[in-house]
Amino acid sequence: MELSDRQETIVEIVKENGPITGEKISSKLNLSRATIRPDLAILTMAGFLDARPRVGYFYTGKTGSELLTEKVKKYKVKDFQSVPVVVKEDTSLYDAISTMFLGDVGTLFVVDDHSCLIGVLSRKDLLRASLGKQELTSVPVHIIMTRMPNITVCKPNDLLIESAKKLINQQIDGLPVVKENKNGLQVVGRITKTTITQAFVELTLG
Ligand code: ADP
Repeated sequence: MELSDRQETIVEIVKENGPITGEKISSKLNLSRATIRPDLAILTMAGFLDARPRVGYFYTGKTGSELLTEKVKKYKVKDFQSVPVVVKEDTSLYDAISTMFLGDVGTLFVVDDHSCLIGVLSRKDLLRASLGKQELTSVPVHIIMTRMPNITVCKPNDLLIESAKKLINQQIDGLPVVKENKNGLQVVGRITKTTITQAFVELTLG
């Protein structure tokens, strides 16, 4: 986050003089305590300063990037995941393409009768199949899907940043969010590159 000039000055004052009361900071700036109250609140919330009752403000010693890392590490998959769009393995390629359009997604998950993961279909999987001589209305998706156990997944309690790394390392657009149960890996959500972009924007909004 970007600090205002006044906030930067307050951080410097606290660095040199902390612990220091709000009153003393304001007098060093020749401003009223009320004027700098919002700045102190922002600096404390953002983690640059810490406040102890009856002691005052002190500098936490954390740099901007350390604070950003701390914040990113609070982001869990479950806080950002979106609804998964799924098809069954006997769904035709034609219907899968329609589902992709209607669901406005780039990746479909193929599930069994227990909503457990058996495959993944990407946009290009379906495009490739459409270019071939396959009969789109009769060929089922299980013929072309990427299947278990070759599917990269994530869990609701995983750190979002770990999922982002998986997307990059595997060069894929999306991950199914799964919960393990007696029938297999139940698909409960979806993490995509868009999800990561949303989290990135949220970081800057504070
Ligand atoms: P596209 O193929 O449209 O560029 P992706 O990069 O997501 O989309 O997919 C590339 C390939 O990886 C496809 O064959 C797809 O079936 C497969 N794939 C997609 N998501 C996963 C995943 N989570 N785990 C394993 N394979 C995947």
